[in-house]
Amino acid sequence: MTVKQLEHASIKNSWFTEVSDSFPGQGLMLKVEEILHVSQSEFQDVLVFRSTEYGNVLVLDGVVQVSERDEFAYQEMICHVAMMSHECPKRVLVIGGGDGGVLREIVKHESVEAAHLCEIDESVIELSKKYLPNMAVGFDNTKVTVHIRDGFEFIREVARSDEKYDVIITDSSDPDGPAEKFFQREYFQLLHTALNDDGIVITQSSENVWLNFKFVKQLRDICKGVFASVEYCAALLPTYTSGQLGLMVCSKKPTNLKIPKRQWTQEEESSLVRYYNKEIHEASFVLPNWAKHFLEGT
Ligand code: SAM
Repeated sequence: MTVKQLEHASIKNSWFTEVSDSFPGQGLMLKVEEILHVSQSEFQDVLVFRSTEYGNVLVLDGVVQVSERDEFAYQEMICHVAMMSHECPKRVLVIGGGDGGVLREIVKHESVEAAHLCEIDESVIELSKKYLPNMAVGFDNTKVTVHIRDGFEFIREVARSDEKYDVIITDSSDPDGPAEKFFQREYFQLLHTALNDDGIVITQSSENVWLNFKFVKQLRDICKGVFASVEYCAALLPTYTSGQLGLMVCSKKPTNLKIPKRQWTQEEESSLVRYYNKEIHEASFVLPNWAKHFLEGT
């Protein structure tokens, strides 16, 4: 019996290549050891492969979402920058996040009573349980409730109800596919309504200062039109094109988001987290001069 080898258009001669119209003229390459899964779900093209250096890698619509080796940098930053900007987060919502890594981080905060996650594509959760167990462990916590549906529709319902959140984390894919609405003004207005008065929102900004920085500025301007305080920070990691991913953090009431409201002890930090610490929280907001001038229009 012959076993058919899996194939994917982004993999040639054992090299995966990520290219996108959002960052023309450059790409990211990873060496592939084995293709583990290829499918077209109802919402997106799904690929999982084992790389030679970065462990298993999840790719949606041709764009790397997470790799086992460096995922903690992204998951910790998108979670803890927001969570540490709140005095006592009890109810937390993740939009997207189907690999489970952000949930894994949220429940490290003892104040959390409920962590909800709304993911559109159940196959991402199932595949993460199979191929990314160190992230999918986040689904095992008893405080976690999962909703399988469109995150925009979900947040619209939350905004109409009395069920508010302290922190909302948008851990979505890029704006080209089912996550497009998460980068528009209406979404941020709904988030604002869905938050308690001292609520915090963080969202992956899809780009960074080296890639489509106009997009980052546009997103920041949208957020500034809705929230009292808005800041841009970045997580540094090799498997996102150009080595970093920007995050937009917003607060409903005016506050200095660059300084964490709480912090773990050194012992807690060294046992709970591998990337995030108080110094990284503060430093992640520091921009090079050209980016600062562009973003702030100075
Ligand atoms: N860390 C990643 C990044 O920034 O590249 C994001 C990882 S996470 C796996 C992204 C998730 O968002 C995917 O599982 C995708 O299915 C989900 N997603 C995209 N659009 C969505 C929508 N409209 N509602 C809920 N989840 C959505």
